[in-house]
Amino acid sequence: MCGIVGYIGPQQAYPILIKGLKRLEYRGYDSAGVALMNDNQILNVYKAKGKVSDLESSIEKKDISGTIGIAHTRWATHGEPCQANAHPHYSSSENLALIHNGIIENYAVLKEKLQKNGYVFQSTTDTEVLVQLIEYIRVSHEIDLLSAVQLALRTVVGAYAIAILDRNNPDEIIAARKSSPLVVGVGDNEFFLASDATPIVEYTNKVIYLDDEEIAVINRNTGLKIVNLKNVEVDHAIQTVSLNLGQLEKNGFPHFMLKEIFDQPSCIMDCMRGRINVEANNVVLSAVIDHSERLLAAKRFIIVACGTSWHAALIGKNLLESFCRIPVEVEYASEFRYRDPILSADDVVIAISQSGETADTLAAIELARSKGAFIYGICNVVGSSIARATHTGSYIHVGPEIGVASTKAFTGQVTVLTMLALTLGRLKKTLSEERYLETVKELASIPEKMKHVLELNEKVKELSKPFTYAHNFIYLGRGYSYPVALEGALKLKEISYIHAEGYPAAEMKHGPIALIDAEMPVVVIATKNGMYEKVLSNIQEIKARQGKVIALVTEGDEIIANVADLCIELPKTLECLEPLITSLPLQLLAYHIAVCKGKNVDQPRNLAKSVTVE
Ligand code: GLU
Repeated sequence: MCGIVGYIGPQQAYPILIKGLKRLEYRGYDSAGVALMNDNQILNVYKAKGKVSDLESSIEKKDISGTIGIAHTRWATHGEPCQANAHPHYSSSENLALIHNGIIENYAVLKEKLQKNGYVFQSTTDTEVLVQLIEYIRVSHEIDLLSAVQLALRTVVGAYAIAILDRNNPDEIIAARKSSPLVVGVGDNEFFLASDATPIVEYTNKVIYLDDEEIAVINRNTGLKIVNLKNVEVDHAIQTVSLNLGQLEKNGFPHFMLKEIFDQPSCIMDCMRGRINVEANNVVLSAVIDHSERLLAAKRFIIVACGTSWHAALIGKNLLESFCRIPVEVEYASEFRYRDPILSADDVVIAISQSGETADTLAAIELARSKGAFIYGICNVVGSSIARATHTGSYIHVGPEIGVASTKAFTGQVTVLTMLALTLGRLKKTLSEERYLETVKELASIPEKMKHVLELNEKVKELSKPFTYAHNFIYLGRGYSYPVALEGALKLKEISYIHAEGYPAAEMKHGPIALIDAEMPVVVIATKNGMYEKVLSNIQEIKARQGKVIALVTEGDEIIANVADLCIELPKTLECLEPLITSLPLQLLAYHIAVCKGKNVDQPRNLAKSVTVE
C-alpha cells in the first residue's frame, strides 16, 4: 500500500525515483508523483492520476533535473484518486514538498485551525494538512525545519512514513515514520529512501530500518543522522539485505503471479532449508528451541492475521490442535484489537503477515504485548515492523512476493505453521514418534509433488475458459480443505472480480444450496482422506440440482470422475499436508480465469499488497 522513494547523492534523481516507484508498484496504488530540486534551487512537483507510466508521459517535456528528490505512489484513504490529491503536496509557500504513507487521524481539527490562520488547501487529503502544519509551526515559532517536523509529529495522531524536501535547504531530505514502513539505503556518498528494500537493492545492500517516531535527517554534506521526536540522537545498526534483483523480475513469465505460483516448489524448499534435515527425520525451528519453555507452557494459542494469512491461520489451528493438543483461536486482527479480548501472560499470540507491515496485525501485537502475552511472528519480509515487534518468530523465506494476490506466501505460511506444530508436538510428546516421522518425511517431499501439480497448468487453463462468463462461484472443502476453499474463493474474487464464496462442504445444506442451479460452478476439494465419503455425498447433492462440479481429486479416483463435470487429479499426500497441494490448482484456476477476462492480475483494482492502514 503506497510507495515512498527518495534519493540524494551525485546521480540524477529522477531515473532512480521512477525505477523505484515501478519496483513498488506491486504494493497497489492509484496515482503517483515526484518532487525534484534542480540546481537552481527550484522545487518542481509533478503528479498524475493512474500508473507511474502516466506520470512519466505527463512530464516528458518538463524539467526533471536534480540530484535530490522524493517520489510517491498513493493509495487513497482521504479524498478521491485524482491529480490534486496525489502526493507530493506543497506547503502554501511552496517551500516544502511532502509525501506520506498512512493516515493523519486528527486531520479535521488541525485543518480547521490552519484554515482559521489563513491556510488554503489544494486537496482533500489528510496529508496536505501535515505539510501545512509543519510550515505553520516553522513560520509561527521561527524554528528550523527539523524542530517544526518534531513538533508537528507530536501533534498528529495516526500513522505516517513521510519524506520532505525544503527549497531553502537543497542538500537535505527529512524523513520520519510511525506505524508505516520506511527504510534508508546507505550507498557511497549517496542515500536512498523507500517503503521497503526492493527499490534500494540494485544500488546498495546496506540498509537501516527506522523505528517508530524516529526522524532521519539525510544531508549531502554531513551524512545521515537519526533523532527521535524529542531530538535525542539514536544509533542504528546498518543491516545487510540479501535480496537479489532476479527475485524482482518476471523471468519470462507473463505475470508475477504466475511466476510466483511456479516458484512454489523452490520457495517451499527454501522455507524448509536448514530446518528439516536431509534425512527428513527432524525439524528444527530455532525460535522454538530458543523459547521452548515459554511456548510449551502456553495454555492457549491465539493466531491473529488478515486475509490470506487468516486462511493459513485456520490451517495452523488444525495442525497445532492436532499435534500439540493446545486450544487455538484464530482471530481477524482488526476485530481482535477492538473487542477487549481476554488475554493473559499464559497466552502465546502468533501473528501472521506476509509483508510484516499489516497495520491491524501490528496493532493486535501491541495489544497482546501490553497484556503480557508472548508473541511469535510469522512473516516474509526480513526486518519488517512485525518481525521487530514480536518476541520471536520464523521467516517464511519465500522471497519477495510481487503479485498482489498472495500465492507462495500462503504456502510458505502453511509450511512454517506445519513445522511449528511438528516441533512443539514432539517436544510436548503429544505427537507420536511414528506420526512425527511420517509427517516430516512427507513434508520434505511436498516440493516434488508441487512440481507434478504445476504440470497441470495447461489443463487448468483449458478447463477455466468456459468459466470466464460465470458471475458466481462456490468453493467447498472439509477439515484441512475448508480453509483452502476459502482461500480459493478469495483468489478468484481478488483478481477476476467474480463473486465467490467458500464454505465448509457440509454447511452447504444449511443455506448456500439454495443458490445451486445449472449456472453455478462449484469447486469441491474431494481428495481421498477421512472426509472422502462425506464430500462425495455433498457432490451428489450438487449434481442432483444441476450444479457444475469441478472436483480436485486424488490421482486415480474414478468414482468422483464419474460424478463430477470436471476433475483435476492431484498426487496423494497426508491429509494434514493437503493444503500445500490443493491450493496450487485453485491459484491457477483463479489466474487463468482472470487472464481470460483481461484483468490486471498483478495489480487488481482497489487492492494493495501491504495493508499499512487500518
Ligand atoms: N492518507 C493519505 C492520502 O490519502 C496517504 C495515503 C497513502 O498511504 O498512500 O493521501
